Amino acid sequence: MRSDGSDPIREAARLLADRRNAVALTGAGISVESGIPSFRGAQGMWAKYDPMEYATIHSFMHSPRKVWEMLSEMVSVCGGAMPNAAHKGLAALEEMGVVRAVITQNVDGLHQAAGSRRVIEYHGNLDELICVYCWKRYPTLERWIPGAVPLCDCGEILKPNVVLFGEPIPWLAQEQAEEEARTCGVLVVVGTSAQVSPACDIPRIAKESGAAVVEINPEETSLSGNVIDIHLRGSASKVIGRLIERLKETDDVSPGH
Ligand code: NAD
Ligand code: ZN
Repeated sequence: MRSDGSDPIREAARLLADRRNAVALTGAGISVESGIPSFRGAQGMWAKYDPMEYATIHSFMHSPRKVWEMLSEMVSVCGGAMPNAAHKGLAALEEMGVVRAVITQNVDGLHQAAGSRRVIEYHGNLDELICVYCWKRYPTLERWIPGAVPLCDCGEILKPNVVLFGEPIPWLAQEQAEEEARTCGVLVVVGTSAQVSPACDIPRIAKESGAAVVEINPEETSLSGNVIDIHLRGSASKVIGRLIERLKETDDVSPGH
């Protein structure tokens, strides 16, 4: 509830019910409650691994063993994680006909595990390893050995099929994400600091194309002051849960609609 007595959750639920064609853009924050640290903040991965040392394609090609230290930790943490109430809530909103797609910057596969059907993986995922020389692909668990650099049958190093700094976004994911942003009625931005480019352009594209932009984040972000129409402050699971309760009170939204 705001100081003027208005309720941002109610306003966001009204927008979602009226416009229906919502798209979610998610970041590391949505998976924090599944036990996967985000990148920024005191508990974040960057506190331990400097991104320019560990997360660029340049460092991967020059020091694969070092970069695999961080990647190995991510494979291990993400491999053991389960979807939380926020991932499940977005899947339920898809089922209710409210959210039509999820664009995620995450590489953990938790939206699909929660039951979301249309997921655009903007930064790839950790499920697959790809050879930097012959491009042969392997399921990660087939080749990954903690503490070692996994190798292809051709003898070259394997890289997870995720986008490191300095690499382009997979073209199909970028096309699809921009198309969703241009044509959605509401963009719900969940758990991203919106500092990684070009993913941070998606809210602006949606806004300039006429969408309302709703942000779910316990903190203010660089988006909060300008592109955002409604900021729902709080953890993703709590806020999405309250949005669903409100939507269920609205007559014109029912499961399978
Ligand atoms: P980020 O680490 O820069 O920002 C995380 C954001 O989430 C912050 O704004 C924070 O306030 C918010 N947040 C924290 N807890 C939250 C909660 N419970 N509910 C809602 N919001 C919460 O993350 P980013 O913007 O996604 O950028 C980091 C990049 O690193 C992305 O490309 C991302 O894919 C990648 N990454 C992925 C994972 C993963 O796959 N789970 C984990 C770490 C980083
Ligand atoms: Zn190879």
